[in-house]
Amino acid sequence: MMIVANVHLRPPFTVGLAAMIAVGGCGDDFERGNPYQASAGTAATDTGGGASSGGGTTGGDASSGSEGATTGGGGSSTTGPATTTTTGGETTGGETTGTGTTGGGTTGGGAEEACYPGPNMDWTVCLPVVSIDPPPPDYVYPPAYQDDPNYRPPIRFLELESLDGATMLAPNFRLDEFAQVAKGPYAVVQPHAVEEIQLLRDQVGPIVVNSGYRSPAYNQMIGGATFSRHMYGDAFDMDPANVPLSTLENLCSDSGGMLVQYQTHVHCDWRFDPVDEVFFGKESDWMPIFPAPPMVAHIERSGTVFTAPAYGFDEGEPLRRWTALSADGRVLARSVGESFEPPPGTATVTVEVGGLLFVTSDD
Ligand SMILES: [Zn+2]
Repeated sequence: MMIVANVHLRPPFTVGLAAMIAVGGCGDDFERGNPYQASAGTAATDTGGGASSGGGTTGGDASSGSEGATTGGGGSSTTGPATTTTTGGETTGGETTGTGTTGGGTTGGGAEEACYPGPNMDWTVCLPVVSIDPPPPDYVYPPAYQDDPNYRPPIRFLELESLDGATMLAPNFRLDEFAQVAKGPYAVVQPHAVEEIQLLRDQVGPIVVNSGYRSPAYNQMIGGATFSRHMYGDAFDMDPANVPLSTLENLCSDSGGMLVQYQTHVHCDWRFDPVDEVFFGKESDWMPIFPAPPMVAHIERSGTVFTAPAYGFDEGEPLRRWTALSADGRVLARSVGESFEPPPGTATVTVEVGGLLFVTSDD
């Protein structure tokens, strides 16, 4: 759908990317091996880490249509696959434990739907998305990074508890491989990213997804980067079962994805692709949040007359309360008005502007 469309967008983003890394985090996380996880107290702890320690690649999906679906990983908490074991496999320590979904499989009812490639790549698997307004505390997104519209906060989400985690979003991937309730009851799984990972899978065989969507609160809890793409639903941490990491890394880059190399997994996201509007709304409807300009004022003197130009008061001229002080701090005069002419003997002039700012003359 949009594999090559935006390769040309990369150069301008490269600068921002470098800056982002410098600032403290590329889009990726430090999920694996994060010391905070062990005591995090949630069911979803990635520490156990699946692939790197638990022989994750053995789980794989070699025999199944869905990575993890029959390994006791992703499917363990759903009613779908018969297997309920949570042993072995990539998802043990994985993030899919504890999802607790019951497979409601709710469909319809929503005005908005996110449609996915589905098991047959015909884009007929559509799931309702919901608005959560105001967003709960766990879903407070940071203002868009450098006002990049691809970092605008999502406005609609999948409500995981009303969906069947076993839903096949692509021929080899289930919903609960990309999003789990333990990481947030609402999730963003961008359809174009699902298509991309399926295309990777088509080339390298089974891919175990160690991490997909994370709510902002979950991301913060595990020490993820401030602008981790995992919060935007187009990032996956992957473990290929049959090929070296380097193979998958190259394919990620070739697909226009943003690659971050790790010892234990491949982080790939498609941050350069325009985000899917079903989750993020139209870019034209989005207004970056600009911080209000600060209010400032200073004192100017012309002859014996003082004024206090002020900026940032957007409802007219602010009230100014003047005070003239003698050298020993006695009040010689007070006045309210735009200008002030202090009496002889004044050592210092102060002015209160708008009841907010206090400015003192230098002399
Ligand atoms: Zn990642």
